[in-house]
Amino acid sequence: MARPFARGLIAAAAVWLTGCVSAQPPAAAVRPEAVPPVSAAPAAPARVAPTRPAPARPPQLWAFTRLRGTDYVSVREVAARFNLKAAWTKPETIMTLSDSRGVRFTFEANQRDFYFDGLRVLLGEGVLNDRDSLWVSKLDVIKLVAPLFSPADHLAFLPVTAPRTIVLDPGHGGSDPGKENKLLGVNEKTLTLDVALRVRKILEARGWRVLMTRSDDRELSPIKKKDLQMRDDYANSNQADLYLSIHFNSVEKDSERVTGVETYTMTPQFMLSAANLEKDKLTDTAFPGNKLDYANLLFGEQIHRAMLGGLKTPDRGFKRGRLAVLQFLDCPGALVECGYLSSIVEARRIATAEFRQKIAEAIASGVQGYAETLAALRATPGSAAK
Ligand SMILES: [Zn+2]
Repeated sequence: MARPFARGLIAAAAVWLTGCVSAQPPAAAVRPEAVPPVSAAPAAPARVAPTRPAPARPPQLWAFTRLRGTDYVSVREVAARFNLKAAWTKPETIMTLSDSRGVRFTFEANQRDFYFDGLRVLLGEGVLNDRDSLWVSKLDVIKLVAPLFSPADHLAFLPVTAPRTIVLDPGHGGSDPGKENKLLGVNEKTLTLDVALRVRKILEARGWRVLMTRSDDRELSPIKKKDLQMRDDYANSNQADLYLSIHFNSVEKDSERVTGVETYTMTPQFMLSAANLEKDKLTDTAFPGNKLDYANLLFGEQIHRAMLGGLKTPDRGFKRGRLAVLQFLDCPGALVECGYLSSIVEARRIATAEFRQKIAEAIASGVQGYAETLAALRATPGSAAK
């Protein structure tokens, strides 16, 4: 593992403190990089004696360096780790990582997203161009890039049992209509309930236990913050294995140009959300909904892929958000924005029962896809499912 950039006292000290030493076997007492960062790691004492057995498989350690105040990993390092071939497709700007299946990753300098197997994924930090490579922040590599490519390496952080109970959360309700298209006379609360009822029917026929946070036009509490938290509480008190909040979108500007699907999962601790360019007061908080970051990611990816495949709709991105409706979950969860009511063309489509049935089928196939991926990972531990 060549680390030509990891020179200088600060870089060397940072590498040493996190156990990222390539030339020696990993010290068993040092926390591997793959472990979600829950709190600042204390400085390891020098030559500490191992206090627990060495892990059965090598921990995921990433060589990193400090760029513009943040720890970054070279995209070439990611390629080497996953046996992918890195190549510039536009010098100093766009780099792709490929294998025998074709292009797997596309990164572009100064962008805050990347493409993985055709899916647009939002990053916490922008991609940098430096030293004949592109660079992705260490947190993005640990929390997004690596687990998306190789969920098998994160099996220890995924649920042990096969999911059976799902809670569907039709967004809004009662006095809160959500987004509206007044011209067409449609609102979000009615559409989300209709889609959720359709998903319930499909999943129940496939053997799932399906519960809903509401099955008629009502709010759970007149206080919005409490209403959102009660949706999580409902899933937690019913020992849900999965949770999906269903919504429709709207924009103020370019309303006819902006269409498509976006999917959200909880932003991991310390990462910036898609809508945030700077830290806010929640950035450093670990929420209950962060306990299952890797399962959230797997579930969100399956939902987003199924929606894009089933609806043939523009990819608005698989994003991270510290959404109140996901913060307190004890089970993997995601929120899907099924389309834009602000676009007359898209809202007309959404207003048809045929299209809402398509949405429901896509959601159901994403849920099923998550369960099947998890089962495949459990059946073949140690092998990448992708
Ligand atoms: Zn909504």
